Amino acid sequence: MKALVYSDWDQLEVRDVPEPKPQPGEVVVRVAAVGICGSELEGFASRSPRRTPPLVMGHEFCGEIQEVGAGVSGYRPGDRVVVNSVISCGRCPACRDGQSHLCPEREVFGMKRPGGFAELCAVPAATLLPLPEKVSPVEGALVEPLANGVHALSLVAQRLPETVLVIGAGTIGLMALQVAKAMGAFRLVCADTNERRLEVAHALGAEPVFNPVRGDLVAAIREFTRGRGADVVIDAVGASVTRRQAVAASRPGGEVVWIGLHEDATELSGFDVVLGERRISGSYAVTPRDLQAAIGLFAHGKIEIAPWVKPFPLAEGARVFRELVTAPPEDYIKALLLP
Ligand SMILES: [Zn+2]
Ligand SMILES: [Zn+2]
Repeated sequence: MKALVYSDWDQLEVRDVPEPKPQPGEVVVRVAAVGICGSELEGFASRSPRRTPPLVMGHEFCGEIQEVGAGVSGYRPGDRVVVNSVISCGRCPACRDGQSHLCPEREVFGMKRPGGFAELCAVPAATLLPLPEKVSPVEGALVEPLANGVHALSLVAQRLPETVLVIGAGTIGLMALQVAKAMGAFRLVCADTNERRLEVAHALGAEPVFNPVRGDLVAAIREFTRGRGADVVIDAVGASVTRRQAVAASRPGGEVVWIGLHEDATELSGFDVVLGERRISGSYAVTPRDLQAAIGLFAHGKIEIAPWVKPFPLAEGARVFRELVTAPPEDYIKALLLP
């Protein structure tokens, strides 16, 4: 079968590799579409030890079951499925509490084990969710990033927040924005340093949008909210400066969710947090419930992907990967590969 192989540092190529066989408890999925994730681009560009070649990456994928291994019930060849990017042990307290994404033994596809940048991928049956006919393969591959947006907003206690600010109009930010919209948030505001991305955010319902290069984001949000601040702020960048802005732009008693992972160390005003009783939550990956909710949002036509998602054949994978690492393209934000 063909796979996009990360063969050595800085080397990616499409080549023939042996077909996987399902181990007991696994199925082999014929991949229909797979997303290229920002974490994979950053890992490749920075030679991260979390993704060491030789490796087939890819953790955002859907497809059709080709072969079912021993001991798997409830799935048959031909079933359309989405794969949870996180593989968990299923036995520990976190897994038993429905928090499989926090399992200490968790693994992600395309890190220690082969992922979905290939025609076929062996996956544990416990990671599967059925994909309804009305959700397309391209949407199916976006279920995982959409579920990241669902997960971020599931950590927010306020129902029907008035103003939601999303910092960062990349894939996760645009998904979080659309989840907030589907939840009934009254006003959506988006900030990004890239004008093209702001146009997309605006087309998806953000009004107004802010470019922090042109002026002070926190002051603009305060002014827009009559001095109060946003009820909910999602930081989908994860830089020290955006984490600080997220806290400062939230209202007293407001909620901040950090989902971006751009940097580790963060300088923050402790007074803003304590005196304003602001709550900061970290959001990592997804639960099966988030994936289920994301499939529902696609099935009910709540999510727009047309202006910013672009699929490519797997054969172009190496070129597209390099293009995304080098400079953000003008005509799309999220790339998918179709094996
Ligand atoms: Zn991802
Ligand atoms: Zn576990």
